[in-house]
Amino acid sequence: MLLENIKHNDQQVSFEQAVKQGLGRDRGLFFPKQIKKLSNIDELLALPFIKRSSIVLSHLLNDEISQADLEDMLTNAFEFPAPLKQVSENIHSLELFHGPTLAFKDFGARFMAQCLKKFNQQGQLTILTATSGDTGAAVAHAFYGIKDIRVVILYPENKISRLQEKMFCTLGGNIETIAVKGTFDDCQALVKASFEDAELRKQIGLNSANSINISRLFAQVCYYFEAVAQLPVEQRDKSVFSIPSGNFGNLTAGIIAKVLGLPIKRFIAATNENDTVPRFLTTGEWAPKETVATLSNAMDVSEPNNWPRIQHMMDLGWFDKNLLSSTMIDEDSSQMGVKQLYQNDYVSEPHGAIAYKALKHSIEDDEVGIFLGTAHPAKFKESVENILGELIPLPKELAAVASSTILSETMDADFDKLRAYLTA
Ligand SMILES: *Cc1c(COP(=O)(O)O)cnc(C)c1O
Repeated sequence: MLLENIKHNDQQVSFEQAVKQGLGRDRGLFFPKQIKKLSNIDELLALPFIKRSSIVLSHLLNDEISQADLEDMLTNAFEFPAPLKQVSENIHSLELFHGPTLAFKDFGARFMAQCLKKFNQQGQLTILTATSGDTGAAVAHAFYGIKDIRVVILYPENKISRLQEKMFCTLGGNIETIAVKGTFDDCQALVKASFEDAELRKQIGLNSANSINISRLFAQVCYYFEAVAQLPVEQRDKSVFSIPSGNFGNLTAGIIAKVLGLPIKRFIAATNENDTVPRFLTTGEWAPKETVATLSNAMDVSEPNNWPRIQHMMDLGWFDKNLLSSTMIDEDSSQMGVKQLYQNDYVSEPHGAIAYKALKHSIEDDEVGIFLGTAHPAKFKESVENILGELIPLPKELAAVASSTILSETMDADFDKLRAYLTA
């Protein structure tokens, strides 16, 4: 398939190149030059998740990877379900948190790992990444046990929760974790310095696994089909998706699903108080403010890095901008959302609750609302327990790691030390 750099469309690459490279020239994002509609949506919706996903992706990839190969890759990547749970008469939660790190990022990270495994012909590959918590866990689990791929994850020492640390620093094997004596920014600077070192890059086959990788978005397209497939046939074209948004990758994937022909009626982009996009859609002015910390911390982003892809689809006329609205949900309202869902016997957490509240504000009588449950409530146990005033149990995935040993090294925020470690 052909993708182009949306900043410099003379740069055109295959899917393989885009996955390996991550970003294009001048930090431009890669995006398909063309997206053809699927012709047989009803038949597809009748198929099981993995089979259907392999057909959707082989179509999207214009057969750059065969459907049979994709089916193998997805069997490894999507080992867990994405169930739709009804929470009230016309509202459902799409639960995307049944993977090993209990958040939707498992889908994208695991498919990306399968792609890099398939495309790696150079022997040893090193994935180097910095994390402030969640992405590190998804990347570590996605690459765990994959032959010839070494993963090195940097994170700021003592700045992430103990449980978060246990979720990705206890694996061992091909997953190496380093607690850096510094901040998240220091970790990112070390990663950047490594990528700027051409000799190092070559010597250890350096590769990034960051969130703008196109393979992640493509994987996420699949669960929108899975959501619609679980609705009664007569409700399928009435679906309204409400998406808790930070970097807007999830929304980008949803819009790609619609461009492919999935009969989604419209989208709501729900943000927390970092509300650059809702303000932009009202005023036409792109005016990011300083990022503020909220309970939905995975959405504390004021310059969402996937937005240019959404703008691109609107500019090309692939997606009607009137089918997107965006709402900011403040901290009080997000906590109210967790409480209201609990009254319906549904335990949620601040990210999902923001999408729920935005949906409640806007849903109309003849519509069916689906909000994305992006994280398991236990992942935000402390917040949820404070809001509800009740204890919630740890799921078995978390209970198991709580007692394992952290295997991380510690290191000063010093590039020479990191370089020596990587090449030792
Ligand atoms: C990453 C994340 C989000 C935001 O998703 P984007 O694709 O960046 O918009 C929302 N909720 C949770 C729990 C996340 O981890």
